Amino acid sequence: MTLSINTKRLQEDIETLASIGRREDHGLYRMAFSDGDMEGRAWFKQQLEEAGLEVYEDGAANIHGRLNWNEETPAVVTGSHLDTVPSAGHLDGALGVLVGLECLRSIKEQNLPLRYPMEVISFTDEEGRFGGMVGSQSIAGQLTPESIHQAIDLDGITLSEAMQERGYDAMHALHARYRPEAIHAFVELHIEQGPILDQMGLSVGVVDAIAGLFKWEVSLIGTANHAGTTPMHMRNDAFQGLAEFSSEIQRILEENGSARSVATIGRVDIKPGAPNVVPGRVEFSLEARDTDEHTLEDLQHAFRKALSAIARRRNLMFEFKILSEIAPVKCDLGLVRDLEDVAKQLNHEPLVMASGAAHDTQMMARIARAAMVFVPSKGGRSHSAAEWTELVDIERGANVMLNALYRIAGEQAA
Ligand SMILES: [Zn+2]
Repeated sequence: MTLSINTKRLQEDIETLASIGRREDHGLYRMAFSDGDMEGRAWFKQQLEEAGLEVYEDGAANIHGRLNWNEETPAVVTGSHLDTVPSAGHLDGALGVLVGLECLRSIKEQNLPLRYPMEVISFTDEEGRFGGMVGSQSIAGQLTPESIHQAIDLDGITLSEAMQERGYDAMHALHARYRPEAIHAFVELHIEQGPILDQMGLSVGVVDAIAGLFKWEVSLIGTANHAGTTPMHMRNDAFQGLAEFSSEIQRILEENGSARSVATIGRVDIKPGAPNVVPGRVEFSLEARDTDEHTLEDLQHAFRKALSAIARRRNLMFEFKILSEIAPVKCDLGLVRDLEDVAKQLNHEPLVMASGAAHDTQMMARIARAAMVFVPSKGGRSHSAAEWTELVDIERGANVMLNALYRIAGEQAA
């Protein structure tokens, strides 16, 4: 038996939500607890109610829509986030929430018998106004009173203040935690936000791992000097050291990384920064990602070795500071197989792939079997009003979700 979502209804929901929080630049502004976010939340709760789902808002302001809920049986959970970055596109996060709603709505209206209760969650602040994944962290039990107190946005408004203004007590986020026994499985649908599926002409990706990363702040220190009077061989030019390191990145990834490894120097600060002065100091960011913990360790080691060799050769000093390290997350292999299998049954050719971006699934995987479905992003564009996915791909991804969720939660489920 193959189940189908109501594509027209899903499309209408996508269009309605895409009008909430939109500004003149055509981008969406639904940053956590902003006016746009509050309007989106109210609209979503209304859709859950109209679908006849039980609506529950937890202490972290995550919105839950529940079907056949009971506290004793573990639930099959899906969801994503309704909040956005500033000037966002209309699909990042929103699509996963709306597909989750549509799946539960379809199962309910077709009176399909369930073995496990089901739930769709809209997670609070995935995009990071207050650090990111506030909602999924709270459900996964990763928040502390300190981390809640310290959460602050770029304008200096604290999470506590922003939530209080909307009638919430941020400390209640500590009560949103789920016991691992409460969840049978978690599956999130999301747009890929990268170019792979689009370029390969595929509709459905199944995510088997979410990349981890490390982020360094690196300084190379030489000697600032007169650009006219200092001969080339008598310089300690910090920027030349960076240039040499930058040209070695590709080789380092090939020799020490995997096919999934990426590395980026995204910010460079040259000092003193004048056209007629030999750079005495460069400070730059170095960020690398991979889905394997050991590969990330190997890369850290190789980068350090390359930098110190260059510094030695060019008579520079080299310092680095680790700004952050996030461990990669493996998805549940059984769920990955289920999703692949369902996609094939629906005559799609699923691509098993990694997620280079962070998602709520990363947090949910700490307490539950978890996996993700990707649908293509046109041109790989995201975090921009240019974000786009063809309706036929949305429909295919949503039907993979519906059939997979029902396989996991339905009467015949294991
Ligand atoms: Zn997202």
